Amino acid sequence: MKDDTLLTHAGLDPEANYGIVNPPVYHASTILFPTLADWMAYSQTRIRYGRSGTPTSFALEDAFMALEGGTGALSTPSGLSAITTVLLACLKAGDHLLMTDSAYGPTRRLCETMLKRFGVETEYYDPVIGGGIAALTRPNTAVVYVESPGSQTFEVQDLPAIAAAAHDAGATVVADNTWGAGYYCKPLGLGADIVLQAGTKYIVGHADTNIGLVAWKDSDAHGAIRKEYEHLGMCAGPDDIYLALRGLRTMGVRLQRHHENGLRIARWLAGRPEVARVMHPGLEGDPGHALWKRDFTGACGLFGFMLHTADQTVLAAMLDGLHLYGMGASWGGYESLLIPTWPNKSRSATHWEDKGQTMRIHVGLEDPDDLIADLEAGFERLGKAGTMP
Ligand SMILES: *Cc1c(COP(=O)(O)O)cnc(C)c1O
Repeated sequence: MKDDTLLTHAGLDPEANYGIVNPPVYHASTILFPTLADWMAYSQTRIRYGRSGTPTSFALEDAFMALEGGTGALSTPSGLSAITTVLLACLKAGDHLLMTDSAYGPTRRLCETMLKRFGVETEYYDPVIGGGIAALTRPNTAVVYVESPGSQTFEVQDLPAIAAAAHDAGATVVADNTWGAGYYCKPLGLGADIVLQAGTKYIVGHADTNIGLVAWKDSDAHGAIRKEYEHLGMCAGPDDIYLALRGLRTMGVRLQRHHENGLRIARWLAGRPEVARVMHPGLEGDPGHALWKRDFTGACGLFGFMLHTADQTVLAAMLDGLHLYGMGASWGGYESLLIPTWPNKSRSATHWEDKGQTMRIHVGLEDPDDLIADLEAGFERLGKAGTMP
């Protein structure tokens, strides 16, 4: 089945529920067993305790597994908890972790605090290293972690080349696929062993819930991740799971609109005199364009650009007067966002050329003409503030 069909039907079982299209939202901790014999078979029973999953969480996990092309999946209370669960499952004291230098900030903090405390050594690598990562692998390299395109700077990674080198070294490849959303990119088909997403972004799609999702290709990962998940007591709340499931059903059409709006605004920004460069892999001149064309089927609404100016007063004149772009963490909702970023504060293996102010934009589902008009007025304010004595 194609993705739009999967998004519509995967995980549904109306016949099990009076024909009602969507699964019920089971609120459960205790689940009762009718007989002693049933109770004695507790550990072999799939639905046994709220924390171990309900038909509501299984519906979301089955749908995510189908979308990412995995053989199993789990849901967690946030994107970050999905990352923590996977890294704790795959690493032990004495291991070496190769982490992309353009990773999501909290992923980096996790490496530098908790993982370090538990004796895991993290080495950051240039996101565009490709097969050159072979030179960085060691006998104790247990995980190679990719996130493509990179947070804030949007470098596209050569996942097949990285995965081949990682597998030669006996390492597990973990991919954060939040940007591709499982719709525009399939890391498990490109060499990753484990894929995870902040479902908070496009799966939920409405800026109202945090949720994480993990899927994997083989049974080793299944056992390790499930065990860690149980030790950590990870379980997402049923209402949040329901919102994720509900968002998933319309993700395809939303992403198509994010793709169109995003590219239109990226092209418009590239033509503006205030803009030094645009980081959007869907643009023909982008350094990651060829890899993006090979490994992705579209682009979401999130990308970066750099202003010539880095003057904060001038920047405030632009941002404070915007009507349609909010300033806030996260992205992937229906609404547009625009924030300044400082990539050099969170990298060590590479240096980001930041003569101007780096920005991150999330292009939402608004009419692109209105989005452009709002930015245009913002650039006018920026220009005026820049010429004030
Ligand atoms: C937002 C985000 C996360 C974390 O998701 P939360 O639900 O906020 O914990 C992880 N990875 C990427 C790439 C993200 O953008």
